Formats: sequence, structure tokens, C-alpha cells
Amino acid sequence: MENKVALITGAARGIGLATSQLLLSRDWRVAMIDRDGDALDAAIGTDKGAKAFYCDVSDPDDVSEMAVAVTEAFGRIDAVVNNAGVADFGPIGETDFARWRRVMKTNLDGVFLVSQATLPALKESRGALVNIASISGLRASTLRVAYGTSKAGVIQLTRQQAAELGEFGIRANCICPGPVRTKLAMAVHSQDIIDAYHDAIPLNRYGTETEIAECIAFLCSDQASYVTGQVLAADGGFEATGVGLP
Ligand code: NAD
Repeated sequence: MENKVALITGAARGIGLATSQLLLSRDWRVAMIDRDGDALDAAIGTDKGAKAFYCDVSDPDDVSEMAVAVTEAFGRIDAVVNNAGVADFGPIGETDFARWRRVMKTNLDGVFLVSQATLPALKESRGALVNIASISGLRASTLRVAYGTSKAGVIQLTRQQAAELGEFGIRANCICPGPVRTKLAMAVHSQDIIDAYHDAIPLNRYGTETEIAECIAFLCSDQASYVTGQVLAADGGFEATGVGLP
């Protein structure tokens, strides 16, 4: 059988790039999707199993074209990792509608659009969806009205997908990472937030991109063949403590 194919959004850096590299090292072929062309060009590397596709996941036309192009290029899609995301830390009173929509368009609309566009291919492969939410989707905070709400939406969308798509042999699971030192996080984590996370997380540290990628790889793999509709907090134990988000 030909090697399996994973489609990974937000693959130009951070958790998406680490996941692409991990799956390539395990003999998957990988469609690396991102809207940042320069970063994607720099990330693609020399592995012949990887191909780059420029796409804004919040744009329905872009997503339809990308899904066709990936299916034509690889002939199949076995796993879709909805990882592209943007951060925004702001309270309700300071979040105007444009700011709210910017977050929702990528973080929630993007997951819906990419999942829907790749559904025919996933039905054929009896494949897997892995959606990246956040611990910010599990807890309320005074700072994350748009980001936290978008990620709570991703958690519920995952459950909807698991309930509806199980009959086609498609599994859908969700990962809620704790803090990881990526460009996205470090743009919004002040030193006070970093210190508070270190105190609040039982393992007393941020996670790494590779630690999250390992969880994603498991949920994409046949080793997780009876796991669907689950929400996995990969967060150093933060969620277990009941402590509020910093
Ligand atoms: P990152 O900024 O390093 O990478 C995100 C990638 O997504 C970038 O390459 C960016 O260009 C791409 N992207 C953004 N919007 C896009 C769009 N509309 N279309 C296509 N590509 C787009 O961020 P990261 O920390 O690796 O985040 C990956 C995911 O993990 C996000 O969904 C994020 O919300 C989630 N997450 C991150 C953390 C953390 O602390 N880093 C914690 C919890 C959840």
C-alpha cells in the first residue's frame, strides 16, 4: 500500500511544522498547508514526501481549490490536522466585531471549511480528523473572549464530527495544548503570564511543539482506531488542577 497522507494546516511553523516533520519521519506523506508563503517555502525542506499548498483556511474558495489540489497530488487523504490558528487576548469591552471575526474566521470557520472540503477523501480512506483547540477553550478567563470562544467551538465541532461521521469509519478527536513557546503564544504571553503558567502547571513548564505533535500523530494513527470524540488536554496537568487561566 502507498504511504498514508496527512493534510496539516498551519504547517509553516510551530506545532504544525513539528507535526509535519514527525509524520514525515514515520513515513507519512504530508500536504503542508499555510497562508504564509515565505514561511512555508522556508519550512518545506527536502523530504520528497512533503508538498506545499498555499491556502487561507478562512476563505471557502481557497479551501475548495486546495482540497482538490491535495487530492490530485497525492491521490488520497488519510488524516486531516486542523491546526492553523491565530491568537488574540482581549476582554469583551475591547473586542470589536472585526477583531472577533478575525479570530473566528481562522480558528473556527477554518476547521469547518477544511473538514467539509476533505470529507469525500476521508470517507474513502475511513480516515481521521484531529482538531487543535486549546486549554483556553476549556476554561473562561477575563482575557480571551474571542480566542477562548473559538476554541470551545472547535471542541464541540469535534464532538459533532465524531457523532456524525463514525458511520463512515471516520474518527474525530481534539487536542487542547497548554502553553507552547511558539510565535503565536509569545506574541500574547507577557512575563507575568509566563510566570503564572510556570506556577500553575504541575509539571512547572511550557510544553514543546514535539510533545503536542506526538499526541497528534497518535490520534492520526491506527493505534487510535477505537478513539473518537475525545478531548485530550496536553497541558502538563494544568486542566486537572482547576486553577484559573492566567
Ligand atoms: P504559530 O503561529 O507558530 O503557527 C500557526 C500557523 O498557522 C502559522 O504558520 C500561520 O501562518 C498559520 N495560519 C494562521 N492563520 C491561517 C489561515 N487563515 N490560513 C492558513 N494558515 C494560517 O502557532 P502555534 O502555536 O503553532 O499554533 C498552532 C495551533 O495550536 C493553533 O490553533 C493554536 O491556537 C493552538 N494552540 C497553541 C498554543 C500555544 O501555546 N502555542 C496553545 C494552545 C493551542
